[in-house]
Amino acid sequence: MQSDVTSYQMFVQGAWRDSHSGRNYPVFNPANGKVLAHVPKGDTEDVRASVDAAKEALRNPAWSAMDPSKRGRVMYKISQSLREKLADFARLETLNNGKPLGQAKGDIAMSARHFEYFAGLADKIHGSTIPVPGNRLDYTVREPLGVTAHIVPWNYPLVMAARSLAPALAAGNTAVVKPASFTPLTMLKFAELCKEAGLPDGVLNVVTGGGDEVGGSLARHPDVRLVAVTGSVETGMKVAELASTNLARTVLELGGKNPVVVYDDANLDKAAQGVLNGIFTNAGQMCWAGSRLLVEEGAKKKMMERLEAGAKGMRLGSGLEADTAMGPLVADSHRKKVAERVEQGIQEGATLVTGGAAPEGEGVAAGYFYAPTILDGVTAEMSVAKEEIFGPVLTVTAFSGVEDAVTKANAVEYGLWAGVWTSDLRKAHSTARSIEAGIVAINEEPITFPQTPFGGFKKSGNSTEQGAEVISTYVRIKNVSVNLE
Ligand code: NAD
Repeated sequence: MQSDVTSYQMFVQGAWRDSHSGRNYPVFNPANGKVLAHVPKGDTEDVRASVDAAKEALRNPAWSAMDPSKRGRVMYKISQSLREKLADFARLETLNNGKPLGQAKGDIAMSARHFEYFAGLADKIHGSTIPVPGNRLDYTVREPLGVTAHIVPWNYPLVMAARSLAPALAAGNTAVVKPASFTPLTMLKFAELCKEAGLPDGVLNVVTGGGDEVGGSLARHPDVRLVAVTGSVETGMKVAELASTNLARTVLELGGKNPVVVYDDANLDKAAQGVLNGIFTNAGQMCWAGSRLLVEEGAKKKMMERLEAGAKGMRLGSGLEADTAMGPLVADSHRKKVAERVEQGIQEGATLVTGGAAPEGEGVAAGYFYAPTILDGVTAEMSVAKEEIFGPVLTVTAFSGVEDAVTKANAVEYGLWAGVWTSDLRKAHSTARSIEAGIVAINEEPITFPQTPFGGFKKSGNSTEQGAEVISTYVRIKNVSVNLE
């Protein structure tokens, strides 16, 4: 086992190895800006070796043809083992990503649940018999696609990998994972755990390195049959273009600019807490962050009082400290982008209610912290209303009535998640029906489960992850027609 804070290697064909180029790069602890580890800077040659290993593992030792119940048992063992090591994994996630330890524990538990859920599905992937004319038998077989690539973001480093890996492996595919450059550590540790739990060598490979070099090489590799990418719209588009050169399937889970509609008949205490959790969890670095509050005129004053007090009361600090409510952003470069967007919003006419700067004081000076920020008076044409900020920034816009709420909610290019707070059942469901988003939460903050679909409309993506139906994404269908004459 390798140390958490020294040099890591990549995991290819069940073994640790350096990059073919011999190059490394540092990853940082965003809470204090110190180097946490060195990892290999992979390149096209490393991608080639990993895809070869994954291709070989389809046949030898025959992961794809293994008794599917046995495949399920290996996956279940992985989930159990991850639960046993939850504390270690969560600590490493917090050190690398910055999120509070309680949130990191939730991520690791969710990763284990993805494997648990799809372990149970491994032996339930079957075709059908189809009535056809004449004395014939016609049936379908659902086969694995082959080698799958998984390109992962830094905001939920392990859980975003587990989300697409679990159905891919359950269906008998093999995989190459490219973690985000900032946050590769838990994925590397997880690959080793999978081997210890009995996953055959080559079934899961991890190549670390840059987006264009490693991610791009994976996306255009002719032996990769599916590319699952969770990331920005820009990256999703690039990956889709590269994958199209081989007509590889893509699963694109991209950004969001998600509305939270609060009607004036809502329970405002619960709504305010839900809004705060929905934007400041994980320092707002969430594709499904409720980043646009749309509040009905009659509830606005009361909501703003609660939100301002809640934001100002949040304690920022290292995620390892028990009373930390919000950790740092993942990198200084990212913090600069968030700050620039807030500045631009203010220049365009938004009113700064709270935050809008890096906090000062002991414990936060060296890290990449940014204060919980609220911008009021935001209108549809402002950049802060349209573009994903991916930080702890809530914009506030007033509305009047269901039609106005829905028009404002839908006035962006994204369509991932939407929240609705009301005590009127009819308003709740008619709003849910009219909002263009793949996930709608009524009187609920962002919450998801392995068994519930997760995916975006419009520019937020082209697919869904999670839920039993996602297995269809990870298999191909063969039709067999038999003449019985
Ligand atoms: P990103 O797009 O910068 O990177 C995502 C991954 O793609 C990383 O591993 C990166 O190295 C890789 N990559 C970058 N350029 C590439 C290229 N040219 N070819 C192949 N791979 C490339 O995103 P990020 O900053 O890591 O994550 C934030 C984004 O992810 C936000 O937009 C967020 O909304 C989105 N996200 C979406 C979901 C979802 O389920 N819809 C979940 C989490 C995050």
